Amino acid sequence: AHEFTVPADREAVVVTDLAKAYGGSDAFAIEDITFEVPQGQFLTLLGPSGCGKTTTLRCIAGLERATRGRIEMGGDVVFDASSKRDVKTEDRPIAMVPQSYGIWPHMTVLENAAFPMKYGRKRVKEKGDIRTRAMNVLEQVGLADFADRWSTRLSGGQQQRLALARALLCDPDVLLLDEPLSNLDAKLRVRLRGELRQFQQQFGVTSLYVTHDQAEALAMSDTVIVMNQGKVEQIDSPEALYNSPRTSFVADFIGSANLIPIEEGTAEASGVVVAKTSVGQFRCETVSTTTPGELTSGFVCARPENVMVLPVHDERALAEGGIHAKVTAAEFLGDRVAIDVAVGGLTLSSSMPGPLRVQPGDEVAVLIRPGDCLYLDR
Ligand code: ATP
Repeated sequence: AHEFTVPADREAVVVTDLAKAYGGSDAFAIEDITFEVPQGQFLTLLGPSGCGKTTTLRCIAGLERATRGRIEMGGDVVFDASSKRDVKTEDRPIAMVPQSYGIWPHMTVLENAAFPMKYGRKRVKEKGDIRTRAMNVLEQVGLADFADRWSTRLSGGQQQRLALARALLCDPDVLLLDEPLSNLDAKLRVRLRGELRQFQQQFGVTSLYVTHDQAEALAMSDTVIVMNQGKVEQIDSPEALYNSPRTSFVADFIGSANLIPIEEGTAEASGVVVAKTSVGQFRCETVSTTTPGELTSGFVCARPENVMVLPVHDERALAEGGIHAKVTAAEFLGDRVAIDVAVGGLTLSSSMPGPLRVQPGDEVAVLIRPGDCLYLDR
């Protein structure tokens, strides 16, 4: 077995050019996956079903063998396809929390928590130490009172916390979590994602998390990797992903976006794009690497909260160049109203504070706040 210690100034995980084709197939499930997880960070792999999140995580765990690429942990190479180096899962400095928790039903809560210290990579010799450490972590995740209970007699949320406690007691350099909240109901998910993030910060453990739930990713992560069809679309902080998506896929996957195709436009040297569309002309910022000159493709991206639906004769709408549209759908959602309008051959979505004053069929004026729009080249 290898001894791993992560110097504080090193990246905890470095993944370089990782690719995986399953079982002799020449179709890659993932390709060109390159990223780093700094020490102590919470990084999330986010993307729709089948985009390759689990494959990436399982390659890092050593549960799948990548076809190409290299994986380092704390400066040590644990996998390198070209040199055939492939450290076994049990010898990698990781702990995994699977979707199904993987809790042993024939053991008590305490026995489950203590298991890795008895049989894992970093064994603890003193019996008393094992109990003290396990109780200490169970206390921190709110399960100390359940220590002697059979683990099957825990609620879903409690089992999830036990799985986390057990993983932390492996004393891993990197914690790998594969959709650990997906078996819980919506309310509990929201509560536990906050708790999980709190525990992660408290223990300072570097974490790599997989989810297809964008709200979860935004709420919990320091950094999010958005994946699509086996490739990385964008790596950024939650704020940057929302405010400066680089592709239309990211814009649409993180929150929601109106993608308005441009008919023609000009990219100025300053990075500003002037774009003509079927719903008017926009002057907007771009984060895409657009060279100055004429543009014939791409989108203006407008978030629903920047699309205002106003009465047809509203003075502000008239003064600021509002355009005439027809309501196609209108829903009251409690904290806001969602309205779809047909305009310029497109359907635009609007999200505004209530109350709901329109219904399908109504004629309205639509005002798109140009300052908050973004030009995307793909
Ligand atoms: P989900 O959120 O549904 O779990 P995911 O993003 O985690 O999806 P993966 O499970 O990594 O995606 O799958 C990526 C691709 O690899 C998919 O096309 C899938 O069908 C394929 N795949 C996954 N596991 C295997 C396997 N064991 N054998 C063959 N193909 C596989």
